[in-house]
Amino acid sequence: MQNIYIYNTLTRKKELFEPIHPGHVGIYVCGPTVYGDAHLGHARPSITYDVLVRLFKKEGYKVRYVRNITDVGHLENDSDEGEDKIAKRAKLEELEPMEVVQYYTIRYHEAVKKLNTLPPSIEPRASGHIIEQIAIVRKILESGYAYISNGSVYFDVAKYSRDHNYGALSGRIIEDMISNTRALDGQDDKHSPLDFALWKKASPEHIMRWPSPWSDGFPGWHLECSAMSEKYLGKEFDIHGGGMDLMFPHHECELAQNTASRGTGGVKYWMHNNMITINGQKMGKSYGNFITLEELFTGNHKMLERAYSPMTVRFFILQAHYRSTLDFSNEALQAAEKGMKRLMQAYRDLNRLRPVSNAATMDEIEKCKNNIFDALYDDLNTPIALAHLFELVKIVNQAKDGTAKLNEGDIAALKTIFSDVVTDVLGIADEQSESGSSDKLGSVIEMILDVRKEAKANKDYATSDLIRDKLAALGINIKDTKNGTEWSL
Ligand code: ZN
Repeated sequence: MQNIYIYNTLTRKKELFEPIHPGHVGIYVCGPTVYGDAHLGHARPSITYDVLVRLFKKEGYKVRYVRNITDVGHLENDSDEGEDKIAKRAKLEELEPMEVVQYYTIRYHEAVKKLNTLPPSIEPRASGHIIEQIAIVRKILESGYAYISNGSVYFDVAKYSRDHNYGALSGRIIEDMISNTRALDGQDDKHSPLDFALWKKASPEHIMRWPSPWSDGFPGWHLECSAMSEKYLGKEFDIHGGGMDLMFPHHECELAQNTASRGTGGVKYWMHNNMITINGQKMGKSYGNFITLEELFTGNHKMLERAYSPMTVRFFILQAHYRSTLDFSNEALQAAEKGMKRLMQAYRDLNRLRPVSNAATMDEIEKCKNNIFDALYDDLNTPIALAHLFELVKIVNQAKDGTAKLNEGDIAALKTIFSDVVTDVLGIADEQSESGSSDKLGSVIEMILDVRKEAKANKDYATSDLIRDKLAALGINIKDTKNGTEWSL
């Protein structure tokens, strides 16, 4: 297996990936809170960790990829007060909270499937792991890092930080946090504003509630990920991923809970993808630039000049390194679409190239392949990998117009690289063949074009023009070039 390097947020260093159990990788990624449609902010982690999983699989690792669904406990403004996001939506739509959860979970699955992401190996729900979460609260109480207050249980950050480093992950300094938080108003159940809820007593109107030793209530938002990662990946596992916006408080609290309940931080490598901005601005409902994936795919949003296909979005996201910010704009998406189409056209052309038997082997192909994988092994540097991939696109195009000669081995090597990199690791699907429901359509068109070629060879231009016009009427456009006929839908 190759050396893969990952930037670890915890150590702030790029580190060689060394699995805890040889040949196996355990990955936990924070999934969505299912109270609304999946949006651009969901696309980036879905695609980033999908490529990571695909790369490990390509390298022969056995991967267990756990991505949770948050269906309880995530309160408004990510705080310990206010309404549950799902219960609030349920009230608005006059539905059961679990109807909201079901509806948006299905829609989330549909959206990320369009982006061609592989489903996780396990997709646990917070509401299905209340018993495990209560067990962790008990352990943290036993270890002395939590206290019971008026039926709720809070994590005692001050006490914990005397023995451990609260802020280890986010780099926040506890003294700064104290001076930057509001004072408690005396009504609060918390001893300090830095403390966070492990278990909240439910108010009488709160719908989602479970019995516990402390009160009828619900778990704090951060707790589910400690519980579910331990249950499915063990007390210590390899990689925990998520968006940078989750680093604090969510992941910092998760790390503290792990340490307090199982004596270890539990995660060897923490990975965080950077955020997406829109025309340079943070995306948010209050900015009026909130775009769901559905809107992006249909073009149905005032900021969008037109629709963008799922693979355009995927390609666009891969064009930036996952730790850089990424700015969405119509121009940038259109440029990405052009690049993606050029790449996929070369992929299709590659399958039609005829080898030149006496051509010398082209060393550049092997060199490009190594550069592509070296970039991917280097903390998932997809923009560099794509740049090297386009050197191969150039070779395919040169072979097509006759300025380069490829022998059988060259073509076979190119086919393997395209299949390994484009299809398997980067996960870019050919929308042109998919939009016709299957590759069979492509074969049928090729057959018709062969008939047309015959007609032309026999100088039967009436038939060849008729075929061209009938295809055009079906939305299939053909173009005659000196190397044959190209078609597009
Ligand atoms: Zn989480």
